[in-house]
Amino acid sequence: MFVLIVNGRLQEKNRPVVFFQGGIHAGEIDGKDAGFWLLKDWLSDNKRKAILSQIMIVFVPVFNVDGHERFGKNNRPNQNGPEETGFRVTSQNLNLNRDYMKAESLEMIAMLALMRKWNPILFLDLHVTDGAQFRQDLGFMVSPTLKGMDPIRELGQKFSERTIRELSSKGFFPVSFYPSFVSEDEPESGFEVGVAPPRFSQSYWALRNRIGVLVETHSWRPYEYRVKLTRAVLESVLEQAAQAGKGWLEASSDAENRASQISGTEVEMTYEPTSEKKQIPFEGYAYGFETSPITGKKIIRYDTAKPETWKVPFFFQLKPKLVIQAPLAGYWVPPEWAKLVKTKLDVHGIRSTSLPAGQREVQAFRAVFSDFGKLSFEGRQNLSVRGQWWTETVTLASGGIFVPIQQPLSHLVMHLLEPEAPDSLLSWGFFNSHFEQKEYIEAYVLEPWAREVLARDPKVKKAFEQRLKEDPEFEKSAEKRLDFFYELHPAMDKGYRRYPLLRLNSR
Ligand SMILES: [Zn+2]
Repeated sequence: MFVLIVNGRLQEKNRPVVFFQGGIHAGEIDGKDAGFWLLKDWLSDNKRKAILSQIMIVFVPVFNVDGHERFGKNNRPNQNGPEETGFRVTSQNLNLNRDYMKAESLEMIAMLALMRKWNPILFLDLHVTDGAQFRQDLGFMVSPTLKGMDPIRELGQKFSERTIRELSSKGFFPVSFYPSFVSEDEPESGFEVGVAPPRFSQSYWALRNRIGVLVETHSWRPYEYRVKLTRAVLESVLEQAAQAGKGWLEASSDAENRASQISGTEVEMTYEPTSEKKQIPFEGYAYGFETSPITGKKIIRYDTAKPETWKVPFFFQLKPKLVIQAPLAGYWVPPEWAKLVKTKLDVHGIRSTSLPAGQREVQAFRAVFSDFGKLSFEGRQNLSVRGQWWTETVTLASGGIFVPIQQPLSHLVMHLLEPEAPDSLLSWGFFNSHFEQKEYIEAYVLEPWAREVLARDPKVKKAFEQRLKEDPEFEKSAEKRLDFFYELHPAMDKGYRRYPLLRLNSR
C-alpha cells in the first residue's frame, strides 16, 4: 500500500490528523487524482502553508491495489469516465468496504494498523455512486450519528453543514444523505436518513470516537468534473480541520471518556428512519416509464436534456432500532475461541486480559430465534439471532480471556461481541457451529415420553394445548409438536443455540 504523509514528523505536537483514501472500490478512482492534484499544488503554494502548518495529512491514493491493477474499459458500466478503471474488489474477490469489522483481508489488516498508528481525527473515504440519474452531484455523509456520542456528533454535524454550504456556494449540488431512492427506480418515493453498520468505513471510524465521512460523487457527472468536485471537498475539509481540528480532538477525548463509562447503560446500536417526513427540492431530470420489450415490465427513462427540480419526501428523523444494555464488567471468551477472538481484538486495538479460572456469576445468551443466510456473503454464511441474556453461575475454565467494557473502544467491543449486532463476529458466521443441532431423539423414543409428561404435568398440558389453538403452523407440523417436547426432555442439548461467549457482572 502506498501512503503519502504530510507533516508526519510533527505528530507529537498533537496536530489534528486528516486521513483520506481513494480507490477502496478501485473503479471509483476520483480520490486518487484529486488527492495528488491538491497536495502537489498546496505543497508548493506559500498561501497554503498556514493551513498545512496546522494539520497533518495521511493520503492513501489506492486502498484496493489488486482491484486497481485489474484495469479495463468495462469495469464501471454505470459511470461517466474515465475511459479505463480498476475493479471493485480484491484478487480474493472481497469487497474491502464490508471488511472493517471482520477484518479478514490482508489489505484490511494492514489498513487498520495504519489507521491506529496515525489515529486521524477526521477520516474520509472517497467513492463514486451508482444508481439513478439526477443533477445533485455529491453525497457527503458524516458519522457519528449515534446520540450517545455527543459532543463529537454535534461538531460533526456542524462540520457537515458548513461543508455543504461551502460546496453549494461554489456551484456544486451536495446533499448530506445517501442519494438512493427509498424504493428503487421510484423518484417519488424520496430519500431517507440512515446509519450504515460498521462494516462500512465511515461508521467503523465513528465507533472509535472519531469523525468518519463517506464521500460519494455522482457517477453520471464527467470524470473531470468529479475530480474537481472531490478536490473542492478536500480543500474545504482541510481548511476546516486547520481551524476547528483542535476542538474536534478535545470532543473526541471527551467521547472516549464517556465511552469508558457505559457499563450497565442502555446503548443504541442501530437506527431506522421514522415516518416523519418533509418535502425537499432535489435537482433531477424529467423522467417517464415505458414497457420493456426485454422484461415485459415497466422501466424508468430519464431525459437528461430536461433538467427538473423534483419535490420529493425526505424522511429526516432517526429512531433507535436495536438497544442493548452494556455488560457490567465485560465479556469472557472461552479458551476454545480465545485464539480467534483475540486475533480480531488485536487487529482493532481492543484491550483484553487473561482471567483466572473460578466460579462466577455471569450472563449467558441463548437464541430463541436463529436464521442462517441463504446466500454466501463476502465468502461467509451470515447468521442472525434474537434472544436474551440471563444470569447464571458457572465455573470459568482457565485460558479464557476477559474484554473489559471500561475502555475507550467500548462501542466497538459491543458491536463485535453482542450476538444481535449486525456486524458482530456471530453475525459474520464465526460461531455458526453452536447454532447447528448436533444430537436428536428418534420420534418413536420421544413419543411415549411426551404422552407420559402430558398425563402427569398439567402445566405442560396447558401450554401444549394453548400452542395448538393459537399457532396454526404448530398445529399442522408433527416436527414442531415433537420439538416442543424435545425442548423439555432431559436429553435436550443445553448448548444448542447458546452463544459461547459470556458477560461478566464483575471482574
Ligand atoms: Zn464505492
